Amino acid sequence: MTRRRWIAERWDEATATLTGAQAEHLARVLRAERGTGADVVAGGHVFHAEIAAVSPAEIRFNLIAEIEADPALPVTLAMTVFKFDRMEWALEKATELGVAGIAPMIARRTEKHLAASARKRAERWRRIVHEASQQARRSDVPVIHEPVALAERVRAASTATRIVLAEQERTTTLRSAIEEAVAEARTEMPVLEIAIGPEGGWAPEEEALFDANGWRAVSLGPRILRAETAAVAALAVVASYLE
Ligand code: SAM
Repeated sequence: MTRRRWIAERWDEATATLTGAQAEHLARVLRAERGTGADVVAGGHVFHAEIAAVSPAEIRFNLIAEIEADPALPVTLAMTVFKFDRMEWALEKATELGVAGIAPMIARRTEKHLAASARKRAERWRRIVHEASQQARRSDVPVIHEPVALAERVRAASTATRIVLAEQERTTTLRSAIEEAVAEARTEMPVLEIAIGPEGGWAPEEEALFDANGWRAVSLGPRILRAETAAVAALAVVASYLE
């Protein structure tokens, strides 16, 4: 059975501590005991660790030896906010697939009530990716950026290769754009940012804004994918190149 992996909220060079709901779960449900071994993630590093102290409020581990960490994919998804249940499914799948970060954006066709509550929802999204990271035995947790208006993210200065998934694009595929980015990056690993539109698609002025700011429009094929399907498909293509 694979060893459980816990992502610590607090750590120093010799110990790491779980707090909150996961401490309570470990203490009360899993009846953790001193001396029990586990893998613990502390500050993006993974350690073999041993429980040193147990209480429902916190579980303290002694860090024994660092083990090989699996870096995230160098990809941030600039994800337009869409129906929260589907979006949260996409956040979980993107975490399992290795995404480094998610930047929620409010687009012109984002439903108004979703736009209004996106900021409040960000904390819940952070909890979802934290849990999904543990389940996927990741050695880090994807960053959930604060939701911003699309124009702010599109115009932001960035050294990443920026790609916008555009269902009407027919010449450039995501695959060819990645191949070019890998070739240009030479020995380095290219850092990518991939934008995904809302259920209603990109507004014409948004397509123009992407273009004016150097984002490359790419296709994922001739069929129209739901935004959450596009997120999974795009990350799978990237992983097939960069893993
Ligand atoms: N405009 C679409 C329509 O006509 O139904 C709706 C947008 S689609 C549900 C949501 C987003 O997924 C799109 O804005 C795009 O970013 C991405 N997407 C969906 N299918 C795609 C494809 N075949 N190629 C590239 N991106 C796609």
